Amino acid sequence: MFETVIGLEVHVQLNTKTKLFCSCPTSFAEHQNTNTCPTCLALPGALPVVNKEAAIKAMKLGYAINANVNHDSTFDRKSYFYPDSPSAYQITQLTKAIVQKGELFIDLADGTQKRIGMTQAHLEADAGKNMHEGDHSKVDLNRAGTPLLEIVSEPDMRSSDEAVAYLKKLHSTVRYLDISDANMQEGSFRCDVNVSIRPKGQEAFGTRVEIKNINSFKFVAAAIGYEVQRQIEAYEDGVYEQEIHQETRLWNVEEGVTKSMRGKEEAADYRYFPDPDLRPLIVTDEMIAEAKIMPELPDAKAKRYIEELGLKSYDAHVITSDKEMAYYFEEMLENGAVPKTAVTWLTSELLGRLNKTGLTIEDSPVDAKALGTLVSKITDNTISGKGAKEILDHMMENESRDIDALIEELGLAQVSDDGAILAIIDEILADNQDKVEQYKGGKEKLFGFFVGQTMKASKGSANPAKVNELLKQRLG
Ligand SMILES: [Zn+2]
Repeated sequence: MFETVIGLEVHVQLNTKTKLFCSCPTSFAEHQNTNTCPTCLALPGALPVVNKEAAIKAMKLGYAINANVNHDSTFDRKSYFYPDSPSAYQITQLTKAIVQKGELFIDLADGTQKRIGMTQAHLEADAGKNMHEGDHSKVDLNRAGTPLLEIVSEPDMRSSDEAVAYLKKLHSTVRYLDISDANMQEGSFRCDVNVSIRPKGQEAFGTRVEIKNINSFKFVAAAIGYEVQRQIEAYEDGVYEQEIHQETRLWNVEEGVTKSMRGKEEAADYRYFPDPDLRPLIVTDEMIAEAKIMPELPDAKAKRYIEELGLKSYDAHVITSDKEMAYYFEEMLENGAVPKTAVTWLTSELLGRLNKTGLTIEDSPVDAKALGTLVSKITDNTISGKGAKEILDHMMENESRDIDALIEELGLAQVSDDGAILAIIDEILADNQDKVEQYKGGKEKLFGFFVGQTMKASKGSANPAKVNELLKQRLG
């Protein structure tokens, strides 16, 4: 029996306005090499200056994960040559990172949480991009010098499920903190997986293999599954030493396998040394105060939803896992929806309809105000749940968001007026006198028949609770 050991390194692109060491914009540029200057082009004599906004965003993550935020941290040069890095080194933080020793609590399928240790989070500059066209290659340095936060976990995860749960929690945390848009497809949340196996009970770690740059949660799970199997088979076949090397591998999506990319370098291979152009990054009281301004984070939010709003733990975690969904839910409540009904209408009615059309909550045609108002109309008996579904369907397709006007237009108002309902009831009872006698004689099951007939005669518009109440009155 084997145990899987997983540690994760995530590169998060910080959403600062300017680059890490110069004032070039980080925004999209239509033309190559336009968001550049002597510093990010690494021209001789240009000097880097640390971006305060990037430091504050890194500190924010530090406070959110209960880490030590160092009031002085240092920058190092990691030497390597690559065409998209004109300085032939990357500025990073090796010896003293801005954030060290934190923790993240991940949500497991059985509803429990597990603590994952965080080694550190350090600032570093991104490289540019190589573009290969036919037989020649070009270099675009618009991205060179963009701030990255590399977030490194302890090897505390024991399965691909735990690794995915960790990534989801980290992803949602950086999105709540608004330090990155964390778009995996666009590469602003990139993940490297370190995976090894060891016989159960053995304390020493096995040989660690790194799988680089996986861009979806699904691929992370698949890559780990493949790699663990490959390592176990090598062990069982007695060729573990020969076949499993400390190396960097790539996940091949088409073939569903990992493939060797290069041998894993040791820190010494990069000839790290302190960057002589950068003094230690000293954080000020003002920066600390700003970094500590924090939104309500997913765990605290879920706890509040359970304790104060009476939500089930499962629902509370589903809603808080995604910032947009949580804010949508809260806006529904502000517009009169009661929590439990809001959960159902958000997670099953709205998300169900969005999924069918391939939309996300961010581009939902029905906003939280409209859905919240709609749901409040069920609770106050203005419309039935069935009627509300009809209105929601209508809103998914049409512009109109005036709920009252739609109730009117689609003729979905429930009749709660005693007089109108009584008139129908009296007619039903008059037409079914034999059944009335039977009911009074003890055949109480017939009550349902009268309810059904009344609802039918009102074409579904009568408020069912009212119908029950008035029928009981009439039948004595
Ligand atoms: Zn620049």
